Amino acid sequence: MNTNSSNILKTISALGVGLAGMLFSTDAFAASGNVRGYWTFTQQTAGYCDTGTMDCTGSRYTDAEFSSNEPLENARIEIRDASFNLLGSCSTSTSGYYDCPWTAASMPSEVRVYFRFEDKQQRFIVYQDDGSSRWYYYVNASTVNGIQNIGTYNIPAYGFMSLYDVMQRSYYSFVGTSGLMQSRFTGIKVLYDHPDDGGWADGPNKTIQMGWNRTNTINAAHEAGHIADYLAKPRDSHNGWSYNGNTGHSPTSLEYRGFALSEALADLVAVGAYWSGAATEPRLCMYNTTGPCTSNADSHMEVANGSCSTSNANNSRTRVATTRYLWDVIDSNDGETLDAVIYDIYEMIDDLPAGTGWGQADSASGNTESFHQYEFESQLDALRSVDSLSVYYKNCMGYF
Ligand SMILES: [Zn+2]
Repeated sequence: MNTNSSNILKTISALGVGLAGMLFSTDAFAASGNVRGYWTFTQQTAGYCDTGTMDCTGSRYTDAEFSSNEPLENARIEIRDASFNLLGSCSTSTSGYYDCPWTAASMPSEVRVYFRFEDKQQRFIVYQDDGSSRWYYYVNASTVNGIQNIGTYNIPAYGFMSLYDVMQRSYYSFVGTSGLMQSRFTGIKVLYDHPDDGGWADGPNKTIQMGWNRTNTINAAHEAGHIADYLAKPRDSHNGWSYNGNTGHSPTSLEYRGFALSEALADLVAVGAYWSGAATEPRLCMYNTTGPCTSNADSHMEVANGSCSTSNANNSRTRVATTRYLWDVIDSNDGETLDAVIYDIYEMIDDLPAGTGWGQADSASGNTESFHQYEFESQLDALRSVDSLSVYYKNCMGYF
């Protein structure tokens, strides 16, 4: 009995000392402070809207930003010592501002402020081509306790800097407006400078890979769209593109409908990340490697609706016509009453019943016509109460 009481007292006593130590001790952290400042980066991504030659109403990226120092947005910032030990972390606001608390057992020889091409919520991280090495950039703060403001530092125009910016625009301007994507668009690996050309998306591995020839393009937004589509509902939609003997995969080539729909869902992100729903000349600019977006009519997501049955009966089999249909579903500038929101699309895909019957996720997967535009239109209505039949026909989707 006495022994038990004694043990209890000892426990309480030890706990009391511990609490006092945590709350009042000044030597638990021998060094601490807040580093404040701004990050900017030199914007060098091609495909901007040129206000001198285009109607940039609703553009989220114009020539005013190109080649200038722009705020680094939505980035994870880390405070580390010279041995790379993590001392604290924070994020940048839309103005590039950060206020980063840090603590260390003793004053480190260096206090470094790192940006490692990483989303503030770690939804996506830019890696080197090996998939494990990281790109990084850092500046030194002073080795002093307390608050210090180190001013503005600029990140030069690396290709992987563009890639980060394209990804953060893809998520924060478009994909992340879907509640479903807020929960699922996480842990994306973005590999830069692959020796292969082109851009690739690997849904099951949540990986985007950008080839050497896609430096400073918007292409990664398209790949982010493939990832979002996959995360909404993995399904068989890539059985091949080469419909009716056509060769060459492009926004205007004829493709099997399931494939054209899948590619259009990816293109939709490349449009939505860079244009608001109120844009009058929204454009798909993902292939431009230098300068402004092309003014080619095929890149224009409002007027290039084709002549349907007269000059191109197979218009519905192209990515660009399908993208225009999808954009008309969600935009607010088509002169129609339909003005759905993006989560209707991702949530509808998520709601698709499994199986290979009509209207099901893997419908007709055996004949390279997997889940296609008309099923999309019908299921958007059935599962999300969005009737898009008028814009379906407006964009030539009725012609096979
Ligand atoms: Zn694609």
